Amino acid sequence: MSEGKKEASDVVPEATTTESLDRYRSSMEWESKFYRDTAALVERTADLQKVDRNVTHRLLTPQRALIVSIPVRMDDGSVKNFVGYRVQHNNARGPFKGGIRYHEEVSLGEVSALAMLMTFKCAVVGLPLGGAKGGIRIDPTPLSRAENQRLTRRYTTEILEMIGPELDIPAPDVGTNAQTMAWIMDTYSEMKGRVSPSVVTGKPIFLGGSQGRVEATGHGVAAVVRAAGEHLGFELFGKRVAIQGFGNVGTHAASKLESMGMKIVAVSDVSGGIYNPEGFDVKHLLKYVEIRKSVKDYPRAQPISNRDLLTLNVDVLVPAALSGVIDAEVAGQLKCRILAEGANGPVTAEGDEVLRQRQHEVFVVPDVLANAGGVTVSYFEWVQGLQSFFWDSKDVDERLFRILGNAFQEALSFKEKFQTDMRTATLMLGIHRVSEAMLARGLFP
Ligand code: NAD
Repeated sequence: MSEGKKEASDVVPEATTTESLDRYRSSMEWESKFYRDTAALVERTADLQKVDRNVTHRLLTPQRALIVSIPVRMDDGSVKNFVGYRVQHNNARGPFKGGIRYHEEVSLGEVSALAMLMTFKCAVVGLPLGGAKGGIRIDPTPLSRAENQRLTRRYTTEILEMIGPELDIPAPDVGTNAQTMAWIMDTYSEMKGRVSPSVVTGKPIFLGGSQGRVEATGHGVAAVVRAAGEHLGFELFGKRVAIQGFGNVGTHAASKLESMGMKIVAVSDVSGGIYNPEGFDVKHLLKYVEIRKSVKDYPRAQPISNRDLLTLNVDVLVPAALSGVIDAEVAGQLKCRILAEGANGPVTAEGDEVLRQRQHEVFVVPDVLANAGGVTVSYFEWVQGLQSFFWDSKDVDERLFRILGNAFQEALSFKEKFQTDMRTATLMLGIHRVSEAMLARGLFP
């Protein structure tokens, strides 16, 4: 369904003031602090660029949300019930797309907020896709492989009518991986009676996964750092980088930034950080981490706390672990020139306020753009699958750098047009693209 602006019946009634919108929202099933904060940010940003009020109102609620109960036979013969969700926020620009998360804190409020963010993330990078998210409230770590498989297959059958290659395409998120996607693809294919690899992305490569999908988010971070460097007239060669979090995003960002001539001087994981002002040999460090499972005690480096790493005197800082690590205090002490947000939501609302004041000292590339490399290569996987024609990793990387570089330039033009900070400008770009699609499609019926 979509929105138009010309019909009289379409006009938001007088009573729908900000106050009544607040009351309306707080009585909604998906109400949560995360949802409220996300919706408030979207509403504020839409109002700044004078988006049609009817469109904004529609953007503040998901288009569809499903709650399912998932009975699973455990290995000991008992049956346990879990709760799962799939939320589709907006498909004005194309089929829904978004990850599936297995975590004990998954809720309708969280999944709905993440679905909303996906709508704008896809739009920022210009993908012809909408936003969705799903999940199961469960800690998957104690599950056996067989239990996890039964859970995944039953969840898939419960949401079966909501997903499909042209309808809604799930992908991995926290607690799920390529194997989860292979089970979803198999269950969907068996139930539909035809092989449908394009119902999910993030599959194993031998099942139609894309080259470069694993590296995509980290490489995307490197792509926006390059774009920011060019914009600032800032030669990246030989410059210093600190990365918090040395997992999927952090390691691949480190390798790519090193290949661009930058010096990775500090990295960290849950056990703490390491620092060497001369820069690490990332390949050697990766081998060490493969064996030791942590950066801790890496030779020729001094230990540094996760907190101190953030305020190191470096040129580029990449938070690539947790959300909320840059609060007002840390934001006031950042010394980097470029902050590229690999993690989702690494800056708190208070931290963001400080960074807005410091925007001429610290150039922020917000998460919705800096970590959009993952969904971009997911989109490549979907396109390759539909065509049954696969690209090599060089093609994938070149297209990824081009798409993120273009999105960066578009966000910059919004920054200049509206004389605002980069985070607001980037969201404006996403909201603009979604709202123009909604208005062009008009209101059904
Ligand atoms: P990951 O699990 O592979 O790695 C996370 C890293 O953070 C690990 O090195 C871990 O040790 C470290 N870490 C955990 N707790 C920490 C703590 N308290 N202090 C410091 N470090 C800590 O996860 P990932 O896939 O690399 O994701 C990292 C971030 O990027 C998350 O915010 C995620 O939502 C976001 N993200 C990931 C992708 C993707 O494609 N993987 C896409 C978009 C956004």
